[in-house]
Amino acid sequence: MSSSKTPRWSKRTLTAQALGHVEPTTHAVVSPIHVATTYIRDPDNQYTTGYVYGRPDNATVREAEAVIAMWEEAEAALVFSSGMSAATAVFLALAPGDHVVAPTVMYWALRNWLLTEAKHWGLVVDFVDTSDVDAMRKAVQPGRTKLVWLETPSNPLWSISDIQAIAGIAHGAGAKLGVDSTVATPVFTRPLALGADIVMHAATKSLNGHSDVIAGALATGKQDAFWNRIVANRRNLGAILGPFEAFLLIRGMRTLDLRARAAAANAAELAQRFSNHAHVAAVLYPGLKTHPGHDIAARQMQGGFGAMLSIRVRGGEATAVATAAGVTLWKRATSLGGVESLIEHRASIEGAGSPCPPDLLRLSAGIEDVEDLYADLDQALRRAHGG
Ligand SMILES: *Cc1c(COP(=O)(O)O)cnc(C)c1O
Repeated sequence: MSSSKTPRWSKRTLTAQALGHVEPTTHAVVSPIHVATTYIRDPDNQYTTGYVYGRPDNATVREAEAVIAMWEEAEAALVFSSGMSAATAVFLALAPGDHVVAPTVMYWALRNWLLTEAKHWGLVVDFVDTSDVDAMRKAVQPGRTKLVWLETPSNPLWSISDIQAIAGIAHGAGAKLGVDSTVATPVFTRPLALGADIVMHAATKSLNGHSDVIAGALATGKQDAFWNRIVANRRNLGAILGPFEAFLLIRGMRTLDLRARAAAANAAELAQRFSNHAHVAAVLYPGLKTHPGHDIAARQMQGGFGAMLSIRVRGGEATAVATAAGVTLWKRATSLGGVESLIEHRASIEGAGSPCPPDLLRLSAGIEDVEDLYADLDQALRRAHGG
């Protein structure tokens, strides 16, 4: 666990230098990877360094946490072995019988977990359209609801939920608000400043940014009893990130500001161009004025609308699959937030019961030349339409 003080320098500056940490023995500008699993106890039987054993805590992990806490303006952050382990650590900090409100359209693996495993823990989960503030007001029950979960923008329609309004509803009922901010990135949205209690990131995605680490993160506005249960969950479930992965995550985050802005600029340009494409029925991107969540997104996202967009291909599912098959530059793969652009026929991976339209292609814009990205997808759309 690490804390951050109010920074003197901008976040872009601080992240580029990974908070400027200099290794004291050699004065190296890059920290060593702390691999030790155990630490020497002092002769007076104390652990004055604060390090005892590698499962609760690690110095390289703490460095990654300090960078994330700085970005989120958080009191503390924790990194986990995956986004899923970070998210589930929050739900497992609840007690059996607690009521939870979660989005109908959300990251599918977490939705599956809430539909199946969370029941064994005794959680009562209601799935609600979180982009509808009135529906949220009805769903959140004073005294009974203990956690409201949001994902904004959310997979795969990039629906927007109003963090500030829903924080008011949650807190009015005595519930905590957790926000999966993976797609927004801390560059564009700071949920804690909008009233959220906990922010979650699949650090696998934009925070690391290079499609080579599975990791998760949580950040909190307050180190209260609920947060302490989350800390205990990570320790007891052994869900801490490994030191090598933590090092890669720190290295990835050094360029977070540049990458997130470049990818969002590409996404915005592609959204605009494909909106006028003969073979595209609709483009879903919160940066477009036509998107139902645009006004709220424009208020709660600053500097960009993220790297994720979806297109609905004219001609239905088969044409959408054929379009994905016809790209040569875009990589046909799941996941998101990397420097390389990915394309995915989303309904195929979500399976039965998915609310994802069958003609939808999910696009994760990377940082390549936007002209190349447009040209490749344009030719794939034309070929899929027999042109
Ligand atoms: C990928 C993802 C997760 C899960 O993260 P993992 O690191 O794969 O466990 C959760 N939420 C969102 C929005 C994601 O994109």
